[in-house]
Amino acid sequence: MNILIFGPNGSGKGTQGAVVQKKYGVPHIETGVIFRNNISGGTELGKKAKTYIDRGELVPDSITVPMLLARLKEDDCKNGWLLDGFPRNLAQAEVLWKALEEEKMKLDYVIEIILDRDTAKKRIMGRRLCAADNNHPNNIYIDAIKPAERNGKMVCRVCGCEELLARADDQDEVAIDKRHNIYYDTKTGTMAAINYFKEKVKVIEVDGLPGVREVSENLLQKLA
Ligand code: AMP
Repeated sequence: MNILIFGPNGSGKGTQGAVVQKKYGVPHIETGVIFRNNISGGTELGKKAKTYIDRGELVPDSITVPMLLARLKEDDCKNGWLLDGFPRNLAQAEVLWKALEEEKMKLDYVIEIILDRDTAKKRIMGRRLCAADNNHPNNIYIDAIKPAERNGKMVCRVCGCEELLARADDQDEVAIDKRHNIYYDTKTGTMAAINYFKEKVKVIEVDGLPGVREVSENLLQKLA
């Protein structure tokens, strides 16, 4: 099962991606997470990517595309994958489509979470990352996934980890606006990539405005 999930930063794409991953048991591949792991591991790739990420710009395709294509060749991807955060522009979409054609692989689902820019921005600023597990959703502005409290301190609502971090690029409004400019760009940005796939496969659209559970239910119903 090969799946792409799209949605503006802050639309709950990571949270819903985890739900889809659970349903199909395929690896949830997030390019943003791969970059952040490289940054915290101090790798060359991480050093190159960091300056772009901090500014809210895309890491150049010359770095991102080979990294992603290599990831898709790893053993755990044999039975499929869920891609989140890639493709982020039209050029990446074209490369991915070509690579799939060459490998005679098909796209089973393309999911698009639809959310307006202002709501997405607020959600980004409320997002907190659990240091123990990136897939534990916490957001101080979303009731359904508000962090828990222990001894007056915010802790991860899933595992109780005390280290809840806000990403630097999530607190920088200029960087958020840049990321959204890229997403909503219908000429060469992420919306252009989505429209590219709309010409080739059926795209499942899900309204990202309701609560987390309702969005998951709608999504799972459409995937069934
Ligand atoms: P995310 O965690 O998806 O918000 O990604 C964080 C940052 O990583 C983005 O703002 C980009 O700088 C970089 N990034 C993630 N995915 C890609 C991609 N497909 N192409 C280029 N840069 C990316």
